[in-house]
Amino acid sequence: MRLRPTLAALFLSLASFATAATTPIHVAMIFDDGPHGEQTPKLLAVFAEEQVHVTFGIVGQNAETNAALLQAVVAGGHEIANHSYSHKHPKDLDAAGVEAEVTKGQAAITAAAGVAPTWYWPPYVAIDDNVRAATAKLGLKIYYAPKIAVSGDYMNTVSAEEILQRATTNIEDGTVILFHEWRPETGAQIKAVITKLKQQGCVFDTFSEMAQHLEK
Ligand SMILES: [Zn+2]
Repeated sequence: MRLRPTLAALFLSLASFATAATTPIHVAMIFDDGPHGEQTPKLLAVFAEEQVHVTFGIVGQNAETNAALLQAVVAGGHEIANHSYSHKHPKDLDAAGVEAEVTKGQAAITAAAGVAPTWYWPPYVAIDDNVRAATAKLGLKIYYAPKIAVSGDYMNTVSAEEILQRATTNIEDGTVILFHEWRPETGAQIKAVITKLKQQGCVFDTFSEMAQHLEK
């Protein structure tokens, strides 16, 4: 029996174990459709406690009615993305209609937040030629997620327990985890979601941080 190859194999497996244990998994959590008068403050409190930064997909109309809350989101170190003006599906709109959704959304969010979103995060994750043209005209980047974990919280048939399961299963580096602000079960589960993801070795990026990470 030759010792040397065995030792080499042992060192190799130790080295890969150490790498696996220390390489963080970057995830980006997105919370859509707010700001929401009741749920957003609860989410912000958990994120502050857990020292986690996320991205909020803001609807322009809601920015107009909840400007102070939107400013609190920004002050909390979170990123805000343009999630359209009134959350219409692009398939129900013509080119001018899509352009209005993108442009009015950007203007309303920027005015309320005091900062301009860098990213367009389309309602229903629906991207067509009109969406591409409207964002390009504005110099706004569409966020393309390589992988999305859908919590399913937009379906009222999906229970709190299932939201936790879906949001923490098969999570890989670069995954966007999709939530909605308006679902109370999401707010109730989010601390457990973060705890579970941290146990899996996840670190939490905003969209801009994730884009930088994926460029490397
Ligand atoms: Zn939405």
